[in-house]
Amino acid sequence: MSWESKVKKTIPYTAGEQPKDRNIIKLNTNECPYPPAPGVLDAIDALKSRASDLRLYPDMNATALVDALAAFYQIDSSKIFVGVGSDDVLALCFLTFFGSGDPILFPEITYSFYPVWADLYKIPYKQIPLTPEMTIDPFEYAPGLTHVKNGGIIFPNPNAPTGVEEPLSKIERILRANPDSVVIVDEAYIDFGGTSALPLIDRYDNLLVVQTFSKSRSLAGMRIGFAMGNEKLIGYLKDVKFSFNSYTMNLPSIMIGKAAVEDRSYFEETTGKIVKTRERFKEALKELGFVFPDSKANFVFAAHPDFSGDYLFTELRKRNIVVRHWNSPAIREYLRITIGTDEQMDAVIKALAEITATAQNTNQ
Ligand code: PMP
Repeated sequence: MSWESKVKKTIPYTAGEQPKDRNIIKLNTNECPYPPAPGVLDAIDALKSRASDLRLYPDMNATALVDALAAFYQIDSSKIFVGVGSDDVLALCFLTFFGSGDPILFPEITYSFYPVWADLYKIPYKQIPLTPEMTIDPFEYAPGLTHVKNGGIIFPNPNAPTGVEEPLSKIERILRANPDSVVIVDEAYIDFGGTSALPLIDRYDNLLVVQTFSKSRSLAGMRIGFAMGNEKLIGYLKDVKFSFNSYTMNLPSIMIGKAAVEDRSYFEETTGKIVKTRERFKEALKELGFVFPDSKANFVFAAHPDFSGDYLFTELRKRNIVVRHWNSPAIREYLRITIGTDEQMDAVIKALAEITATAQNTNQ
């Protein structure tokens, strides 16, 4: 027996590639094409005068950042938890809320990190199929009706990688049917025209809403995410966090994150621009014969009836355009294309027009 038999073996999450070549049009990980708010630059300058504070451990409650979020969302600071990207927050949520031993539920087509965390923490799970329209059927999440006792529920809204947004009425149905489970709504993509479930946290004490600075606040490189829910949920999350690693949010993240939240008009301007570009892009895709569920996120999940996903992905790549493509059977015909600038999306449309016009039909 070697020491390796004692090692925890995991199959890690596969993140989208981060190509080094700056000439590539990178539309594969849903980053924002615009720079962070101008105040972020001031915060970086201000950090110089606080360099000596780096001797010290940071504020483990990230109070300055939490208070800025509380002011932005008009809720009490006690209802907010921040972490190192929403992946960090979500991983802690799995550890904190999903330990009952009953299977947790999430959609069959969804953020592929969920089964990875479940496996890591040995949490059983059941994946619920989407409807043919790629929507969530709340009936499937109702334990009384389906006789499936669950240990918790998580789904993104809008869902990823489909981009489909569920109305709050549906989320409320799931919440009402599951008062004995924590329901986590992962709102990584909510700021591109979606309606947040945040106002529901005062009505449902089992609801946790998770968001990120990586998409709508142009700070994927800073790694900031946060959860909002009632004080009790947040308290449990903090207890686990402080049993794991107290000082995850460093001083620069706290200061830079605060600056980003404080500039509401820049946030509205950039998210508004992305929404406009997305709608224009959808029209152009339709004209080329692509099909896709309507997206409320900063990406579109599109397939073409005459060309395989793999072929389109490879052809785009040859033209220095990187999008996301998965080889799993249910979604292999689709590309997930992040919304970049107008100019970038024009280049994608031009490339797709060329590919679909000149290439052989790969499905024949
Ligand atoms: N949730 C969903 C649905 C995502 O697509 C992502 C981005 N990969 C995340 C959470 C995590 O984002 P981050 O850790 O950058 O906040």
